[in-house]
Amino acid sequence: MRIDILTIFPGMFEGPFSHSIIKRAKEKKLVEIHLHDIRDYTTDKHRRVDDYPFGGGAGMVMMVEPVERAINALKAKRKYDDIIYMSPDGERFDQPMANRMSVQQSLMILCGHYKGIDERIREHLITREVSVGDYVLSGGELPAAIITDALVRLIPGVLGDETSALSDSFQDGLLSPPVYTRPADYKGWKVPDILLSGHDRKIAEWRHEQAVKRTRERRPGLSD
Ligand code: SAH
Repeated sequence: MRIDILTIFPGMFEGPFSHSIIKRAKEKKLVEIHLHDIRDYTTDKHRRVDDYPFGGGAGMVMMVEPVERAINALKAKRKYDDIIYMSPDGERFDQPMANRMSVQQSLMILCGHYKGIDERIREHLITREVSVGDYVLSGGELPAAIITDALVRLIPGVLGDETSALSDSFQDGLLSPPVYTRPADYKGWKVPDILLSGHDRKIAEWRHEQAVKRTRERRPGLSD
């Protein structure tokens, strides 16, 4: 999979993309992530990418020209399965969407800032709009990093234990059961006996029961 991210703050991705699972996936060449600074595509001598909103009002708006030039420069080099704009009014991101997107070959993700991007970009160039939840962040960088992380961990070979993404919460409409590690007794806080029994079938049953119980208690409408 290849992911191209268009942003005015490429440095914001340095932390999340240079550690842990994403770092390893890049090293194993299972994903290629390219960051593009939208300011490199402006023809303005001050490298401005925003301007005042028509009609007045608070906040600035990202201009059509640099964004259009950036998107078209990338589109000229390869075909994209989707050109995604991160936006609070987009389709809400969830695990089924992550699963579907994780089989795509190449994605472009546009991060907005200020009051957002000029609507004409959305009308003419964006193929999909995705929100990470009903709250407003200052930019699309953190949402783009969230989506990238959720997708990359689903690419076969990225997680050491191939089955581990499948046993995560939401994959089967259930939350994960509780997990424990050593010691079995920490100052009197004990691990459930069943997990120490070595009885695989009973452990699997217990985990399933716990997942069902937890889902009923915390997220009763999850599989609706
Ligand atoms: N005025 C806009 C919010 C702009 S926030 C509105 O009310 O809808 C600035 C940028 O942050 C957006 O362009 C978008 O790219 C990003 N952003 C903020 N919240 C987001 C969310 N919940 N999901 C995805 N992107 C978000």
